[in-house]
Order: sequence, then structure tokens, then C-alpha cells
Amino acid sequence: MNQRTPLIAGNWKMYKTVGQATDAARRLVAAGGGVTHTEVMIAPAFTALSAVSAVLADSDIYMGAQNMFWASEGAFTGEISASMLTDVGCRHVIIGHSERRHLFGESDDLIARKVKAALDADLIPVLCVGETESERETKKTFSILDKQVESGLKDLIPEAGREPVIAYEPVWAIGTGKTAQPEQVGEVHSFLRDLIARRFGEALAGAIRILYGGSVKPENISALMSLTDVDGALVGGASLDPEIFTRIINF
Ligand code: PEP
Repeated sequence: MNQRTPLIAGNWKMYKTVGQATDAARRLVAAGGGVTHTEVMIAPAFTALSAVSAVLADSDIYMGAQNMFWASEGAFTGEISASMLTDVGCRHVIIGHSERRHLFGESDDLIARKVKAALDADLIPVLCVGETESERETKKTFSILDKQVESGLKDLIPEAGREPVIAYEPVWAIGTGKTAQPEQVGEVHSFLRDLIARRFGEALAGAIRILYGGSVKPENISALMSLTDVDGALVGGASLDPEIFTRIINF
């Protein structure tokens, strides 16, 4: 039994107006706010962060953002900095989500700069990594993950209590209803933990949380959470409904 506290995180993507987001956050606080077996985080759209932060203020539910830019300020139209996120109450920030990598062309280099800027600002980065379907079919899964993690964490100076989070999200399982099989998830998570151990040492490898993401739902969360190296989940579609997300939280 490891000592890592699980983290169940909800990525609300580009859904919910401010009113819809605060309503969902209120329902989540009422239904799942008092859990102690896992940490819970929700990542609303930028426009709703401030209002959701006020709703979560007296709860145990953390708030994260879905993206950020690496510079602290400047002429970067349309971007948001790490300090702007901490200012509105974010504790986490999702970085390198596959939708950012594949729809918006984010490179490993850009993602590495964002991870560093998040850590420098005391935000916990949730670094997303994962292979596409064709990469899996051509047996490139491990080399892709190796490259994404090596690059994403290249500026990391391991420090107890300030560990980033890794989310393994096979691209072919995101929003598709296809969940990776427990054997596939277990194999990748143990590969990732070994990689962290080799690169940063056993202490960080033992402390870092590795989440699974990709069509997680109430029906599959328990099987996923029973795997040794799975420390939680990053949930997209199923996190939008507070009742369904609460069932996942209560795995
Ligand atoms: C995600 O957006 O990170 C995700 C895993 O989405 P879904 O749960 O909808 O597959």
C-alpha cells in the first residue's frame, strides 16, 4: 500500500458559462465536498475560475486551470500567466493536454517551459502524456512517453511536497468511450514510475502521482484505482455532471 493520496481531477474543457459552472461547483460541494480518501480538483474554463473559486472557498475541493503560458507577463495577447491563476485561487494547472498538443500544435519544448513556469509560481502542474492510436499500433508507446516525460520534466528540481502530477492519457481513449484495458494502464504506469525513478530518484518516484485519463466513468473507476501505480484519474466528459463525477470520486 503506497502513501500517495489519490487525486480525482475533472477537466471541464470548453463547457459551462459562469452560471453553469458555479451551479455545478455548488452541487459538487454539496455531494462530494467532504471526502477524505482522495483529493478532488476541478478545472473550469478561464472565464469561470474566479466565480468557482468563491464557491469552493470553504470546501476541500481544489481548483485548477486547463492551460497557461510560460511568461510571467507581457505582450502575449490571449494568454494567461501562472500568477494570474494563483491570484484567482488555482492550485493546479493542466499542461500539455492532448487537445493542446494536437489541436493547437503545442510542442514538447513549449510544454516544458510551461511546466517550469507553473512550478516556479507554486502551481502544481498536471503534465499530460499519451500516445496516439497509430503510435500504439506501431509499438512506439514507450518511446513517445519517454520523450514527453523527459522533455516535460527536464527543468524539474525534485523537492518534497512540490511534486508535479503526471496524467497518462492515451489519445485514442480521450472522449471516445474506449478505455484502456487495466493491463495496458498498469504496464504504462509502472513504466512511468520506473522512468521517474531512473531520472529523478526513488523518492520522487514514490511520491509522484500518476493519474489515468481517457473515458473514465463510474463503471470503470474502481478497476482502474485498484491498479498499484494508478493514483487517480483525470476525467473529461464524465466530470461535467456533478452527480456522475461524485460517483467517480466515491470509487
Ligand atoms: C480529458 O479531457 O482529459 C479526458 C480524459 O476526457 P474524457 O474523460 O472525456 O475521455
